[in-house]
Amino acid sequence: MPLWHSLLDLLFPLRCASCREQIAPYPAGGENDFPYWAAGGEIENTFCWPCASGISWIEGCLRCGTPVENPAPGCFWCEKKQFAFDDCCVLGSYNEAVRGAVHRFKYRRGEHLAKPLGRLLAARLSSMPWIGSVNLVVPVPLCRKRHSQRGYNQAALLASAVGRALDLPVRECLQRIKETQSQTGLSRGMRAENMRDAFRCQNELALDSHVLILDDVLTSGATAHEASRALKKGGAGRVSVAVIAR
Ligand SMILES: [Zn+2]
Ligand SMILES: [Zn+2]
Repeated sequence: MPLWHSLLDLLFPLRCASCREQIAPYPAGGENDFPYWAAGGEIENTFCWPCASGISWIEGCLRCGTPVENPAPGCFWCEKKQFAFDDCCVLGSYNEAVRGAVHRFKYRRGEHLAKPLGRLLAARLSSMPWIGSVNLVVPVPLCRKRHSQRGYNQAALLASAVGRALDLPVRECLQRIKETQSQTGLSRGMRAENMRDAFRCQNELALDSHVLILDDVLTSGATAHEASRALKKGGAGRVSVAVIAR
């Protein structure tokens, strides 16, 4: 390792995205506890060993990301839902370790976490069977009020990091055309109603393009569904979704 690398480590030690503790080297062979796609250190650059060990990585339904035993396109949850998106890629369950990172990223000026989280998500995305045909990455936009309160859109930062890691173009072509209330605390039906017709695709997309939507968390799927519907109206042929947690 060059000397200046060790100096940088000394001055700016990597800190865990979830608990902020300094990331110490993982125990020997520790990587074997993680999914195969994470080999190569992306987890070690993002989470400390105790937090990483607490993550419940999702092998999910290829359509909606729900954890299932044998991942296939469609499951008990999305069978009747007719989502407008075609695929979903999720890093992990929204449990303590992941929630810590997502909260820090969204609510506590955690812009710097876009890069490690984005690279980790990109590693996960590289293992998806459909990733090769994606030709555009699009973040879910925040409503104007929340954007000005927070000062940044976490989904846009994530999209840039993923786009850079996968060498894919990123375009903010979705526009919020409806002021929605926070989805937190709403029932599934209310979430769907709240998000209905919330987006517009402001650019014409190349016919049959394959768009990858980026967001931080997927809960009821209402936001991803509406965003996908708008993109398909704008010309997208296939829409995949990637989130950190669900
Ligand atoms: Zn930690
Ligand atoms: Zn499903």
